Amino acid sequence: MHEFALIQKYFTDFPGDDSLVEGIGDDAAVMRPPKDHFLVQSSDTLVSGVHFPDDAPAGDIAYKALMVNLSDIAAMGAKPLWFTLALTLPEVNEAWLRSFSEVLRDLSIQKGVVLVGGDTTSGSELALTITITGAVKEGEQVMRSGARLGDEVFVTGNIGDGALGLALWQERIKSVVDAEPCLERFYRPVARTELGLSLGPLVSAMIDCSDGLFADLGHILERSACGAEIMLSSIPVSESLQSIASDDQSRTAMLNGGDDYELIFCAPASAKDEILSLANIHDCPVTQIGEITEASGLRVINDDGHELNVFESGYRHFG
Ligand code: ADP
Ligand code: MG
Repeated sequence: MHEFALIQKYFTDFPGDDSLVEGIGDDAAVMRPPKDHFLVQSSDTLVSGVHFPDDAPAGDIAYKALMVNLSDIAAMGAKPLWFTLALTLPEVNEAWLRSFSEVLRDLSIQKGVVLVGGDTTSGSELALTITITGAVKEGEQVMRSGARLGDEVFVTGNIGDGALGLALWQERIKSVVDAEPCLERFYRPVARTELGLSLGPLVSAMIDCSDGLFADLGHILERSACGAEIMLSSIPVSESLQSIASDDQSRTAMLNGGDDYELIFCAPASAKDEILSLANIHDCPVTQIGEITEASGLRVINDDGHELNVFESGYRHFG
């Protein structure tokens, strides 16, 4: 099966919407941006053997590729609209393509994003790049640089399960109380699309947790030129993580592991009630874990009041 037949068979049966003037099939897609909005754009690449195991199911790969991109748009307080898919395939495996495109289509419909185009090439490693475009009301984009002294620091969901899922898959950890949700988090993370969008007008800074809590919060602190103090015991973790992370060091390792795709954000104390009520509406737990301080750097305090040595060990390519 050649390139054009493959695109026709697996990637043209995706729904469009009113914003799509010209979709798949021309040299480039044509879209109508919403009035009085900025466009927000981001790309993320997944490579076989680096971001997922070589034998990962096609559906999981599709799911994660779109979700990690959606997560970046959520962290800007923006609404996702369109995406492109650049796919590099070592071979044409129709069963693989079928489940890949089915899961991608279902998830794109669920999240209200339209596949507007892409590129298909052959290459020695399976790799895919999704470029996603969203929109945010002019001026309401949420940057990493907006945290201010006295702001409170919050996270959504649980932190550390993504790293735990990776460790379980790599068999670095053999068993936990409830392995399934951790593996699920690693293979099928969930972007906080609706909550991220609704938080936009309330928060001062936001980032999604892809490289680990301390590294990602560190990015906010650096860009905002401030520091933060975090209570270790206030960081929400699953029962599974509690069951393995008996000491500060192992817990810190998991919290620093990445792949959670939760939101980390800062907001003035006056916004807290509204934030918690939005969390309720969107059925997404939100927990305050600390506050922004004038002294630069991140201080993590454990139960007996001592500061932990948190070295920045988030995941880095070429590191
Ligand atoms: P061109 O040669 O003009 O770059 P292509 O042959 O690469 O065009 O692609 C033809 C059409 O199919 C384009 O509209 C492109 O956006 C779309 N397309 C190619 N690959 C994919 C894919 N994997 N998913 C979605 N659309 C794709
Ligand atoms: Mg092309």
